[in-house]
Amino acid sequence: MTNTTHPVKRGILRNFIGGEFCDARGGARIDNVNPATGEVIGALPDSGVSDVDLAVESARAAFPAWKASGREARAKTLYAIADAIEKKKHGLALAETRDQGKPVSLSLSMDIPRAAANFRFFAGAILHESDDAFHGDGGLFNYTARKPLGVCGLITPWNLPLYLLSWKIAPALATGNTAVCKPSEFTSSTAYMLAEIFAETGLPPGVCNMVFGSGPAAGGALVTHPRVPLISFTGGTKTGAGLATAVAPQFKKVSLELGGKNANVIFADADLALAARTSVRSSFLNQGEICLCGSRIYVERSVFESFLTALRAETAKLVVGDPEDERTTVGALIHSEHRDKVESYVDIARSEGARVESGGKRPTLSAPFARGAFYEPTILTGVRADSRVQKEEIFGPVVTVTPFGDEAEAVMLANDVEYGLSASVWTRDAARAHRVAEALDVGTVWVNAWLMRDLRVPFGGAKASGLGREGGRHSLEFYTETKTVAMKW
Ligand code: NAD
Repeated sequence: MTNTTHPVKRGILRNFIGGEFCDARGGARIDNVNPATGEVIGALPDSGVSDVDLAVESARAAFPAWKASGREARAKTLYAIADAIEKKKHGLALAETRDQGKPVSLSLSMDIPRAAANFRFFAGAILHESDDAFHGDGGLFNYTARKPLGVCGLITPWNLPLYLLSWKIAPALATGNTAVCKPSEFTSSTAYMLAEIFAETGLPPGVCNMVFGSGPAAGGALVTHPRVPLISFTGGTKTGAGLATAVAPQFKKVSLELGGKNANVIFADADLALAARTSVRSSFLNQGEICLCGSRIYVERSVFESFLTALRAETAKLVVGDPEDERTTVGALIHSEHRDKVESYVDIARSEGARVESGGKRPTLSAPFARGAFYEPTILTGVRADSRVQKEEIFGPVVTVTPFGDEAEAVMLANDVEYGLSASVWTRDAARAHRVAEALDVGTVWVNAWLMRDLRVPFGGAKASGLGREGGRHSLEFYTETKTVAMKW
């Protein structure tokens, strides 16, 4: 059953600057391709320095009034945006699916509801935040006051387009900043539709601007713009490293949410059926294109074979194909170059003697999907510990499964990568759960769970997975400058 009942804005996207939709000044455009079919479904502005300049100026002009508008007024606007996202959820979900290739059931159940939740969460958070006060000796009284920084530069990837963009826009605007956003050139449609929602809900012109285009041109201009004091970036580790170098001399406030190579550690006493079902999700949800995916599974040796059997059986239930079919559970990868890269890692594993337990090839699909960027969910065993397949972020539907002997070896293997974003630990032994969680060098550890998110908790990576924490008060702190006022009575 193909869901074609909800209209989607197709065609030509335009920048949103100062409350107006406009083309890039140079007039150039980038094709927008549906990765499931390879069909060009539209185009977006190929913006450059002058477009970013214009957007930053309009955000600067809007800043004083937005900052002065007060928390309640800002919260009211953010709640209205959340309501509008919910009203338009079917169109937004279909647009997300056509841009990115993810199953429409996932866009509708995860991406779009989370975007609305982000606006709602930070609307509430700003109404309930408080500052600190310190009564000291000798008549000294300190208090803190936080203020917005001005124009925030918000740069986002293609894997969770509206979900991650709203995770940045909502706290930036709630705290009184204005923003210039540069969404991924592969997935700009829902950002464009969000700009339409901004216009409809009466967000004042210039408060949130969208500049579409490529990373180096539009993103690069935003990152180094002297009037943008804060950059929040989510994307690849290599891009993040370049960005950190570029902004260092300007002393910008920077948050970097980068790549991952996360481990699922499964002990023999775990609920193995639940661990297998959840590991299928953590390996293959969104085609494995989630920074938090558990792409390395380590299983205690005594239950290795039974876990693998359960994992294979659960994986066999997945349905690869038309992302717009509501029965599909694995859609297309973002583009065919990325699919080729994913495939090359499976080739490396094969050439090193690993076993392909399931998948390991492109599916055979009929037109119009025969030329889509699909790859079957793939389980590998016998992958060498020092293989690139175990060390590098593949960001696709490929998972390795490896046995371990004891707790110390499990921790050593899990930590043996340059990344440190997240991990999942599966055990019924609470003391061991705490010990292992403590020993893992990552930003988030789930115990007997995966991807359960509470928006109040700090979120971010250790090691090459990033710098800084966002979420709850951590976002409110990141998007503001804290001042201490020390008064002598
Ligand atoms: P990417 O680094 O290629 O691009 C991310 C964004 O940066 C895009 O908007 C891109 O246009 C822009 N960009 C690229 N070069 C730039 C430059 N020189 N200056 C400024 N902007 C530039 O990443 P991607 O391929 O879009 O996304 C996948 C990566 O994102 C994966 O590594 C994944 O793990 C990571 N990711 C991390 C998190 C997290 O929370 N840690 C969440 C989602 C995705």
